[in-house]
Amino acid sequence: MAVYTTAKCGHCGINWTTLNPNTPNTVFGKLGPPVIKCSTCYRDNKTNYKLIRDLNPLEKILYVKVKNIFGIILSLCFIAMGFYLGFVVTPGAKDEGIVPAVILFSVFSVAFVVVGVIGIKNNVNGSSDFDFLEMKYDSNGGFLWSNEYY
Ligand SMILES: [Zn+2]
Repeated sequence: MAVYTTAKCGHCGINWTTLNPNTPNTVFGKLGPPVIKCSTCYRDNKTNYKLIRDLNPLEKILYVKVKNIFGIILSLCFIAMGFYLGFVVTPGAKDEGIVPAVILFSVFSVAFVVVGVIGIKNNVNGSSDFDFLEMKYDSNGGFLWSNEYY
């Protein structure tokens, strides 16, 4: 599903619209560049967003960690499902001699574990979207262009 974001310049009123799937996920509308410079009128717009490094420790847990924790729990569910398929469902099918089912369940079991492991790895490493955003924000000198963000 594409993330559809729309916003407006507070000075010239031009619409910033995007279907960019790489627009960082603004959890609870809180994370993002604090200043967006309009690429049409070149004026700064202050947002209510914060960069991750500007969040206080409580906000960091709420807006960053909670998402990662859910991601890790979901990944663990995938791994558990993979093991269940591999060690409970597949041997059952093997006992009954259903070969296509054995192959199918084995493939699914491995796929579930792989998806789970990748999910945990991504959530432990944190979000690269935001690293990129902060890097860009700094290299511009404390703002993002509206056409970079939207
Ligand atoms: Zn503008």
